[in-house]
Amino acid sequence: MHELSIALSLIELARAELKKNGGSKVLALNVKLGPLSGVVKEALLAAYDLAVSESDMSAAVLNVEDVPVTVFCSECKKISTLSGNFGGSLRFVCGYCGQATGDVRSGADLDLVSMEID
Ligand SMILES: [Zn+2]
Repeated sequence: MHELSIALSLIELARAELKKNGGSKVLALNVKLGPLSGVVKEALLAAYDLAVSESDMSAAVLNVEDVPVTVFCSECKKISTLSGNFGGSLRFVCGYCGQATGDVRSGADLDLVSMEID
């Protein structure tokens, strides 16, 4: 299961960071997740809850911030945010002129952006 291995590596990262900073426990992990990352938010949260409850990091809450999908249009020289649901209705077109563009600038992210350590 893809999400479980990601959850485990997030916990591993948190543990390493805790050791480096000399805190007593990690309270929260703040992650940015884009719909093009291939990771399903709900599945990640469920896998994380399972993994963290069986670890020594059980105080750490996972906060997932959704990153929008943005594309760059070579005609307008602008970045626009794609609207719609990524379940199939998301179209890779410029929000200004409607031209198709595959130049994705964000939305494939899965980043641990910060951590709260006690
Ligand atoms: Zn455009």
